[in-house]
Order: sequence, then structure tokens, then C-alpha cells
Amino acid sequence: MARRVVETITCDACAKKGAEVAGTVTLVIMGDKYDLCDEHGNRFRAMLADALGNTGDTALSA
Ligand SMILES: [Zn+2]
Repeated sequence: MARRVVETITCDACAKKGAEVAGTVTLVIMGDKYDLCDEHGNRFRAMLADALGNTGDTALSA
């Protein structure tokens, strides 16, 4: 019988609240890796941009 292993990535921030939400963004800082959903990805992106002084849209585009 064929077997297929499916890896599910869930948002670490949502998991802390007990919710299981699909992760779409990976955040890596100094070797620490976090999987985040769209909402948390955008939230942390905005927080980091704010902390680092990047407020322009051009600096945020990947
Ligand atoms: Zn989330």
C-alpha cells in the first residue's frame, strides 16, 4: 500500500492561544525559527519594521 506523509505547518503564535491555523510565513532570527500565519506574519513584520525604522513600503517588499 502506498503511503504518503503530509507535513502540516501551523502558526506558532496561534498555537500558543490553542488555535490551529495554517502557517504561511517562516520567520528566522539568529537561528530561532517561527512558523506564522498571514496575520501574525504581517504583525511581526510591522513590529520589526517599526523597531528597525523601516516605515516605507519599498523597504518592506520582499
Ligand atoms: Zn497566527
